[in-house]
Amino acid sequence: MPDHFDISGGSNGKNDLIVRGNRVVTPTGERSASIHIRGGVIEKISGFDDVSPASSVYEADDLVVMPGLVDTHVHINEPGRTEWEGFFTATRAAAAGGVTTLVEMPLNSIPATTTLAAFHTKLASTLGKLSVDTGFWGGVVPGNAHELRALWAAGCFGFKCFLIDSGVPEFASVVESHLREALPILARIGAPLLAHCELPGPIIEAAKHLPNNASRASYRIWLALRPRAAENDAIDLLLRLGAEFGARVHVVHLSSAEAIPQIQKSRAAGQQLTVETCPHYLTFVSEEIPDHATQFKCAPPIRERENRERLWAGLRDEAIDMIATDHSPCLPEMKRQRSGDFLDAWGGIASLQVGLPAVWTEAGRRGFSPAHLARWLCEAPARLAGLDQQKGAIAVGLDADLVVWNPDAGFTVDPAQLHHRHKLTPYAGRGLMGIVEATFLRGVKIYERGNFCANPVGKVLLRGKR
Ligand SMILES: [Zn+2]
Repeated sequence: MPDHFDISGGSNGKNDLIVRGNRVVTPTGERSASIHIRGGVIEKISGFDDVSPASSVYEADDLVVMPGLVDTHVHINEPGRTEWEGFFTATRAAAAGGVTTLVEMPLNSIPATTTLAAFHTKLASTLGKLSVDTGFWGGVVPGNAHELRALWAAGCFGFKCFLIDSGVPEFASVVESHLREALPILARIGAPLLAHCELPGPIIEAAKHLPNNASRASYRIWLALRPRAAENDAIDLLLRLGAEFGARVHVVHLSSAEAIPQIQKSRAAGQQLTVETCPHYLTFVSEEIPDHATQFKCAPPIRERENRERLWAGLRDEAIDMIATDHSPCLPEMKRQRSGDFLDAWGGIASLQVGLPAVWTEAGRRGFSPAHLARWLCEAPARLAGLDQQKGAIAVGLDADLVVWNPDAGFTVDPAQLHHRHKLTPYAGRGLMGIVEATFLRGVKIYERGNFCANPVGKVLLRGKR
């Protein structure tokens, strides 16, 4: 089979196309419907039988038709570290995983997206490589407060910072005094501050109490070194400063479920606050991670089974708003698979292509529905990026970004089937439920059963421009 198809007939985004099925997930729930697409936009949603004979129709039958996923936490590393991951491979993996919109993180590329000049370099590096629509976060680092307005005006969707060492030298972490410079600016322009919430203090303290004989190849040492307190304390700091300055704050990749009560309290007090967690925290448990399995290393770490269940409860209670992958690959040798050294290995999990089935596998068995997934994986992240008038829902006037998937079919993750640049992932060999059959971007079928449309048709997304 060829690995691409030509775009022809009704699916070229200019002509009309109707996608219809018995399980269309709209903001008001799942129903039988026909989605009428014109010029890449959803023009009308009507009854299943509202189809004229002349129309080009994609029949989804009993498959789920959901909004294309909006993944607001992806590290692509281009330019500068393209050998880790690049726009071509990452966005192809996205298309194969039903993700139609990415918002890319400002770090791990060189330069990091912390200046206007770096943002222009980043934009230039995407040319001709995007299979899905891609937007960008800028970064807050010490000393770049004067760049924030320019980055926002140029089209960044908001700003990311680290409260602990980021792992790369060109993206320094911030402390309270830096945030006191940045937050008044962000509050004034209305930009969200996304924070990696771990503080060094509890980690330094934990390092003092490690048993002398702890093996560096044991996952337990990594878990012990990144205690929940580091996250809880950092979230306290972020919430306190966000409230003081009236700024929108967002907790990326929440792992410690202990922080949920403080999140609920701040939200109840009216704070503008959103929280994301990741598929790996909702899937894996530390008790089952074998020694040497550094493909599971990320920060904050995957925690205990009991913690995982509390994260699911947090989603159920709407304390956690969304799920993003935090796709963060590296060169395979940086994972130190031979030595299995958890302390030396790069922290980051490659998962962009499998986010949907990973979440569905765990969500389905806990009684959640595709409508919940649409909220966590599409609507809420689109709102975070300010893209909710364009992306993240099957609704009239929005881009016709769709994923057609089979919730009842299972598969085993075969790294050879992944389109990420590097295939090392903790999902390898894992049985998952939910197979992506086809992905549509602005009415164009960009992926179907292992095949991609011949030329990438994704575009750069800039804040305020459609
Ligand atoms: Zn990240």
